[in-house]
Order: sequence, then structure tokens, then C-alpha cells
Amino acid sequence: MTPDVTASGDRERSLPREPLELTVDPEASGPALRPADGRGDILSLDFDEVDSAIASLGERPFRARQLFSWLHKRYAASVEEMSDLPRALREKLAERFVLAPPEIDLVQPSSDGARKYKLRTADGRFVEAVYLPDEAAGRRTLCVSSQVGCAMGCTFCLTATMGFVRHLSAGEILGEVHRVNRDLIETVGLAGPRPLTNLVFMGMGEPLHNFENLKRALQTLLSPAGPNFSSRHVTVSTSGLVPLIDRAGRELDVKLAISLNATTDETRDALMPINRKWNLEALLAACRRFPLKQGRRITFEYVLLDGINDSDEDARRLVRLLKGIPSKVNLIPYNESGQTGFREPPAAQVESFRAIVDQAGITAPVRKNRGRDISAACGQLAVLGQHRRRPAAQPGLVTPSGTGAG
Ligand code: SAH
Ligand code: SF4
Repeated sequence: MTPDVTASGDRERSLPREPLELTVDPEASGPALRPADGRGDILSLDFDEVDSAIASLGERPFRARQLFSWLHKRYAASVEEMSDLPRALREKLAERFVLAPPEIDLVQPSSDGARKYKLRTADGRFVEAVYLPDEAAGRRTLCVSSQVGCAMGCTFCLTATMGFVRHLSAGEILGEVHRVNRDLIETVGLAGPRPLTNLVFMGMGEPLHNFENLKRALQTLLSPAGPNFSSRHVTVSTSGLVPLIDRAGRELDVKLAISLNATTDETRDALMPINRKWNLEALLAACRRFPLKQGRRITFEYVLLDGINDSDEDARRLVRLLKGIPSKVNLIPYNESGQTGFREPPAAQVESFRAIVDQAGITAPVRKNRGRDISAACGQLAVLGQHRRRPAAQPGLVTPSGTGAG
């Protein structure tokens, strides 16, 4: 039966479809892509591992810095490109390692400057990343995917309809960022070496479900020997995997965003199945004990769904729930896809909700719908036709040139 989640007035609705169940254990970090022939994935190595690899090849230490820089500051997509490495070293690297970052399959530019990238992994899967420039604020943000599909089954989210296909490796996550940086330099004409200033893990997938690979990718992204992003400019968003929020607090130095989306367990259970495992009380307790650096706040994303979670009463409950947590709320009027049955609330209701939260002293911007004309706005990412129940493409990658074969 469809759970009956109601709100005030004549816009009262019930949820349009049954929530999906979690398809995997959200605490288990499963395998990502591994090269089939036993070679190492060079893009996934951290600096110390590159250093050891170079030493084990009998090369001098400065070669490690050179190689790491080719990979993570110059975004090389093949060993061949590394023109100042001796040919013999390039050959040894190609014997031992694979360099096969995702390739750009398609770029869709939006009239508002956003760009949606469809990227193809070496085993023929697709993920999307969205570039969101805000030149006035000096910010060029990439919305990054962490998995192919998502296991969390949120009823309003298009990515959920793909189911969970697989985790992205650290190298694939890095490859996403690197390919976009390179495209911005080569196609858009922005100045290098790193046009992107900010990263938000708000693309396809639940980043904390892919904790090990996320952590490894972040380590390189924040490394001065690599792209050197500032930890203040990197945000990881989660649907609420409580033990992993605690772990993120201990092990990751980035900003945290929580997709809250409801103010009662009844509504949140129906929208986000993860809530049945860790409810609002457990989630907000994890937020309260999350170690925040001076001046930092937790961002709460709140997708406004017409007649479901957008009442004035919800806004007041939200304020009560966030008491004691240094927070900022991003209000996101639902981006309609036509597939889920949910609707965007009328503008007056969005404004009423915003004003209540704002009056309580919590910053609550209504997020602009960037990239809507290219279906690149929040929650619109899904590359259908690659559900895990379909027969998987064979990982036929593994050429050092990174061209892939699958
Ligand atoms: N899985 C993580 C990271 C993805 S973020 C998470 O859920 O936090 C994707 C964000 O888009 C989430 O905050 C989600 O609530 C929101 N979202 C999903 N579908 C949406 C839609 N159709 N319109 C607006 N926001 C949506
Ligand atoms: Fe996954 Fe986030 Fe979409 Fe939920 S909202 S299905 S956690 S991507």
C-alpha cells in the first residue's frame, strides 16, 4: 500500500509510489572497477604509493613527483603523453599499470553556463557530472558522481530508478574531475591549471556508501602535490548513513551536507528508505556530535515537494529539529521529471517556508534551478538502460593509452 503522507490544505497529496527497498547493505563498501589483468590502477594510487612504485622500478624519487603531477595536475589520460619521462620508464609503467580514466562521451551546455558531462567508464558504464559556474562569486563548482546508480531508493530521485550498479574507484572519481578541468581549459578556454574551485559530491550515488574510494579520491584532490583543492571548498552530501557520518567526522576533512527532506519519521520513511534504518533522531544526533571546524556549518538540503513536506508546520518543525546544530538550509523546489509524480510547490508556499526558517535565524537560500534546460539540476541525473540486472559489459579496458575497448 502507498503510505499516506499528508500535509495541510487543498494541496494534500499522498505519495505516488511505493519506496524501493535498500538493495545492498549500506555499511558495506563493495568492490569498484579493477583491471582484469592484474595490473594496478595508477590513478587510484596516493602519492606515497606512487613514490613506492617508482622506487620499486629502480627510479629516482623526483620521478614520483613528476608522474604524480602528470596524473593529477596535468590530467594526463595516457602514459604516452608524459613526454618528459624517459621512454623506458613509460614502458615499465604501462606494463605494471593501467591508466584508463572515464572519457567524455557527451557534453551538454546549458543556456545559463552550466555544462552536463556524460562520462563513459572503461567498462562501458555511464555517469554524469555537472559544471556550475558562478563567476560573480568566483566559484566554479563541479557536481561529482560517486557511484553508477544508487542503492538508497529515495522515491523522488531519478538516480534511484537506476538501482545500484557499482561503486566508482578512486581513480574514476579523480578522472571525472580531471577530465572536466581539462575540458574547461581546452574547450571553454579557461585558465589552467585548475579551473574548478569547488566540488560537491551531489551527483549520482551515495558517496558515504563508497567510503574507501571516496576517502582515497579526496586525499589526492586535497593534496598539494595534486589538484590542491581547499577542504573548505569540498562538500560531501549524504542521505544519512549514520555510522559513516561518524567515520567521516574522524577521517575526512571536508564539509558535510545532509539530504534531510522531511521533518517527521513518517514522511522521511516514505521518501527515503534509509530513514527506517537510522531515523531523524539518530541522524540529528550524528550531526550534533559531528566535529565542525571553526566557522563551519552543516548544510541541510531540503527538497520541497508539493503537499508532502512543504507546509508551514514542516518549516517550524525543521527549525526545532536543527536547534543547537550550526546549520544552513538549502531549499530546493522539486525538479519535476515527470517520472515520479511529485510536484514543485507553488512559489508562494516556497516563500512562506523560506521566511519561517529565515526568521528563526537560519540561512535558507532557495536554490536556483541551474541547468534545467539540459536536465542537469539536482536529482535529474540518471543514465538509464544500465541497471545492474542487465548483463554487464565485459571489462575490456586496460590499454595504457586509456582509449578503452568496451
Ligand atoms: N546521495 C547523496 C548525494 C546526492 S545529492 C544525497 O542524497 O545526499 C542529490 C540531492 O538532490 C539530494 O539532496 C536529493 O535530495 C536531491 N534531489 C533528488 N532528486 C531531486 C529532484 N528531482 N529535485 C530536486 N532535488 C532532488
Ligand atoms: Fe541516492 Fe541521494 Fe538519490 Fe537518495 S537522493 S537515491 S541517496 S542519489
